[in-house]
Amino acid sequence: MTFDVVVIGAGIHGAAIARDAALRGLSALLVDARDVAAGASARTSSVIDAGLRDLRRGRFVAAREALQERERLLRTAPHIVRPLPMLAPCYDDVTEAPARLWIATTLSSRLARRSTLPRPRRLDAGAAIAAFPGLQPRGLRSGLLFFEARVQDARLTLANVLDAVAAGAGFCNHAEVAGCDADGVTLRAAGAEVVIKARELVNAAGSSVDIVRRSLGGDGPDLVRARRVRRVVMPARVGELALCAFLPGDLAHAVVPHAGGALCSAEEGAAQQSELSSRDRVDQICASFARLFDPPPRRQDICRVVSCSRALPRGVDELRARHDPPLIVSEDVSCGRLHTVVGCRFTSHRAFAERAVASIFGLSHASPTRTRPLPGGDGPREVSDDLWWRHGSRLGALRASVAAAPELGERLCEHRPFLTAELIDAVQRQGAVTFADAMLRRLVDVRGPCTEPACLRRAIVVFQRAGGEVGDEDREIAAIVEESRGESSGWQREDS
Ligand SMILES: Cc1cc2nc3c(=O)[nH]c(=O)nc-3n(C[C@H](O)[C@H](O)[C@H](O)COP(=O)(O)OP(=O)(O)OC[C@H]3O[C@@H](n4cnc5c(N)ncnc54)[C@H](O)[C@@H]3O)c2cc1C
Repeated sequence: MTFDVVVIGAGIHGAAIARDAALRGLSALLVDARDVAAGASARTSSVIDAGLRDLRRGRFVAAREALQERERLLRTAPHIVRPLPMLAPCYDDVTEAPARLWIATTLSSRLARRSTLPRPRRLDAGAAIAAFPGLQPRGLRSGLLFFEARVQDARLTLANVLDAVAAGAGFCNHAEVAGCDADGVTLRAAGAEVVIKARELVNAAGSSVDIVRRSLGGDGPDLVRARRVRRVVMPARVGELALCAFLPGDLAHAVVPHAGGALCSAEEGAAQQSELSSRDRVDQICASFARLFDPPPRRQDICRVVSCSRALPRGVDELRARHDPPLIVSEDVSCGRLHTVVGCRFTSHRAFAERAVASIFGLSHASPTRTRPLPGGDGPREVSDDLWWRHGSRLGALRASVAAAPELGERLCEHRPFLTAELIDAVQRQGAVTFADAMLRRLVDVRGPCTEPACLRRAIVVFQRAGGEVGDEDREIAAIVEESRGESSGWQREDS
């Protein structure tokens, strides 16, 4: 088997590159040692940012690209990426950062002349508290209301994979790269090995890119370092408003509302960046949010800790590393040319993929991904139906299956919103191979899956009825409980 390109890693970058290549008529194979969005791409802060940090650093080209990509996503995947109103409170003791944010958002809305999102506006302290109940009133001077976009990151990654497959790409999850020689790349899947030939190899394995490089014979110093990031999910808030607040030292804290809970992230200062245990870090996050919330959050309020390794380029300081656009580093290995994705940026993944495929294959024409809707992104917007927010126009197929078999319209369990039909769809049309693929990366909820053993056992019956295979039920359930606790990076148990 020979492919124009084999892409290793089905996170957002690998998925977008496979999609771009397939839509430009190249033969592409996307493989992942685990599954779609098994790494950082399911654990972002859920914000498609408009490049405000780029503006603050005077990087207008990157900021313009982020703005364009945000608009594109709002248009091509409206069920996955939606406008997100954000409140930035301004307190007595931190005035500079909100002032800079005001300048950046104003500049940004000028740059985005054709943006569909409203312009930023100032609120007085009373209006800020009314808009975001529970905000600490002490020392509050005013607020800034501006717009970003909220993304369901794992679903967007999956949508890229599904579109790549619809355009002719191959996709293999649970297939690990075992090595390469002049004959090609060896893939190991389900205990068997197969050798694949590729004109070009793309390594998009996130924080594991250096492990993949070594396994393919790449040498030279490591390109990335992994940085452990933790965030917490607090109980769901009423309303759609997110919070973006600064604490002394310019540390940004964000609260992003989801249907099941509020995802809270707290930027760490340089002094805090030593590896803390999960428990200590959670205490630290609670303590910093205590400055912003009244009453302060307590450890027992936390529904979930979401933990993950973020791949940052080596030799670059933390802040720059987080906000620099990713790049491709190419080297020769025995089976051909290996192109490694270094750095991270969820927002601009499409534009990055377009550039990467163009430069690897010497193409100059614009990619169809500029205007093509992602799966579910076309058709009427049925915003009053929760199912539309999960499946977009693919909703029609789900409704048809429920019409044919009404029991498929029942919820899998009372603790999560998912229908039986959605689990079946995950197995039969969305590439879930294992029970964990379906429950963790197709039926995605900010709280993680329901971990009640009785609910999981009922779901296993549906999974098997849909054609899924389950070995040891207890082990499958234990794996879901373990991973959903958020304490697994997908590769290593945390704190081990
Ligand atoms: C907490 C957090 C918050 C973030 N917030 C933002 C944000 O607000 N905005 C933003 O733009 N970016 C954000 N990012 C960065 C963004 O999430 C990442 O840049 C992006 O998701 C990385 O995608 P990726 O495809 O490069 O890697 P990943 O998503 O990590 O995917 C790598 C894939 O490679 C697979 N893999 C690993 N080894 C192998 C192997 N040997 N063989 C085959 N497959 C393999 C893994 O299973 C995985 O699926 C955040 C990251 C984190 C961790």
